[in-house]
Amino acid sequence: MDRCPVCEGLTQLSEDCPSCGAPMEDCGNIENYWDAYGPCEEKTEDIISDSADSDRHPCMHFLQCPNCDVSVTRTVGRDTI
Ligand SMILES: [Zn+2]
Ligand SMILES: [Zn+2]
Repeated sequence: MDRCPVCEGLTQLSEDCPSCGAPMEDCGNIENYWDAYGPCEEKTEDIISDSADSDRHPCMHFLQCPNCDVSVTRTVGRDTI
């Protein structure tokens, strides 16, 4: 099983809010939020384009801006860090 370095606490995601430029907060693995909804097709396309190697299982993180509630998702694979 792949380990996500961000979930492991080895590193942190750093992303600036596309709206206000503030550092966004990593809210953790998005599966924690989407359990009730299942995978989203649009997001899945992003993952595939980000990581062509389907043998890897990138961890999807949900980041939210504390100022304006803009949210983005980032996939974290072993090659990302
Ligand atoms: Zn993770
Ligand atoms: Zn913002």
